[in-house]
Amino acid sequence: KLGPRMVKEALYTFVRPTPCTKTPELLVISPAAFRDLGLSLSEAETPEFQHLVAGNGSYEQGADEDGIYPWAQCYGGWQFGQWAGQLGDGRAISLFEGINPSTGERYEVQLKGAGQTPYSRFADGKAVLRSSIREFLVSEYLNAIGIPTTRALSLTLLPGEKALRERIEPCAIVARMAQSWVRIGTFDLFRWRGDRVRLRQLADYVRDEVLKLPEQKGLDENGRNRYENMYREIVRRNAKTVALWQVYGFMNGVLNTDNTSIMGLSMDFGPFAFMDNFDPEYTPNHDDHMLRYCFKNQPTIIWWNLVRLAEDIAELFATPDSIIEDVGAEYKTVFLTEYKARMAERLGFNSYQETDLDQIFSPCLELLQKYDLDFHHFFRRLSEVPVRQIVDNGEDANNQLAESFLNSQVKKRDEAIKDVLGFLHSYVARLKEEGVEDEERMAKMKRKNPKFVPKNWVLDEIIERVEKKRERKVLKDVMECVLNPFEDSWEGVEDAERWCGEVPPVKRAIQCSCSS
Ligand code: AMP
Ligand code: MG
Ligand code: MG
Repeated sequence: KLGPRMVKEALYTFVRPTPCTKTPELLVISPAAFRDLGLSLSEAETPEFQHLVAGNGSYEQGADEDGIYPWAQCYGGWQFGQWAGQLGDGRAISLFEGINPSTGERYEVQLKGAGQTPYSRFADGKAVLRSSIREFLVSEYLNAIGIPTTRALSLTLLPGEKALRERIEPCAIVARMAQSWVRIGTFDLFRWRGDRVRLRQLADYVRDEVLKLPEQKGLDENGRNRYENMYREIVRRNAKTVALWQVYGFMNGVLNTDNTSIMGLSMDFGPFAFMDNFDPEYTPNHDDHMLRYCFKNQPTIIWWNLVRLAEDIAELFATPDSIIEDVGAEYKTVFLTEYKARMAERLGFNSYQETDLDQIFSPCLELLQKYDLDFHHFFRRLSEVPVRQIVDNGEDANNQLAESFLNSQVKKRDEAIKDVLGFLHSYVARLKEEGVEDEERMAKMKRKNPKFVPKNWVLDEIIERVEKKRERKVLKDVMECVLNPFEDSWEGVEDAERWCGEVPPVKRAIQCSCSS
């Protein structure tokens, strides 16, 4: 048994997954992740694969190049604004790096929930089925809607394994993969240790191997050195990702530096949520009393984390005094440019126009907030109705149209109908200005506004059915929706319409704890 330990002068430790005693049960795989890794689907049927992703693989004794020799990474982190010291993969163990032969993309495959590591501190190294289902589904969903994220290959139930969280819960393993698992916290660790040699090594590795930036000697034409350009790349990637979170109403819930990817991937999914009724101050994390990680704070928090990164590697910069200001301005620009372009896309505009933020986006979001309207339903509904045609059809048609945007919870319906119509009129005016016709707009918008969104109430239902009722088909069903979220319907998936429907009133805005 491994005890907590400080690992000096190293970034990882070789460690083996804890084998499970009872026969593991492969619950579901992601065909999309298989494809991206370059594995054929038939691989999932083999005992080798099923053993491997359950933590029961066979491992090499020495660092044989062809064999599997698993490791856990060490990192540190700022958690809720406080320095937390050494952390690390406490329950994730990496198995290998694989290169997809047709795309050349390299992935590091790891098991989450495969037992203790030297970085488990005082925790059990396990992951419960509930949080594993959540991570598995959200990873593949974010990828399906075009948000950079770590991925999930398979979900395996470990029969007989239990862990104490909110209650005693069954355990599982998610085999997950990413082009890199390096986090801002990885850099935080070396700076904290004062290990300047390895800090530079890590920066070189991230620059050359992970981000694959072109070789640079000396300063570029703007007076920036190779590490400054690396930092800017990390900043730009994170700015784009957080912009997409805001556009799609996604909240990570625990944006500590140890959960902030150096590649701008969404990662480490604990108490995450997709917005249902729009509320900018909503946080899905019920331990987050200060609302540090609430929806509207995400862009600020990611920047806060990126400033920690700049501090970590300041000694590698040519202009350490001005870089925060410089790159801060760039972060803002990249964030806003991405946010505006993607919001314009969700609304079916050909391109963003300077007045859209004030005249369309803000009134739209205010409307959603005022009447607690469902963020995703509103956009999907806009994609489904020929608003330009209807708006000219007189009062009755107009009122009916507006009514169709309200859910059953809305109380002051007359006032709401008036407000929705007000918005629709300015929306239509905007569409006319740009010459956007209904048919073309609707088809384009449906590719940008998912019909299926894995909201917490849906995930809770899936978890309950898999865990308590021992249903299995439901996972395959929901994966149909997860991997094809923009479709109108999913053949053979009985629950799909309901999952895409109104949030049951008692299930609104559920919060989770970090203890997943
Ligand atoms: P998280 O908030 O899930 O990203 O976790 C923060 C840190 O705690 C990471 O270093 C995790 O590896 C570690 N950790 C969380 N849960 C466990 C667990 N059940 N066993 C071991 N380590 C854990
Ligand atoms: Mg984490
Ligand atoms: Mg509200």
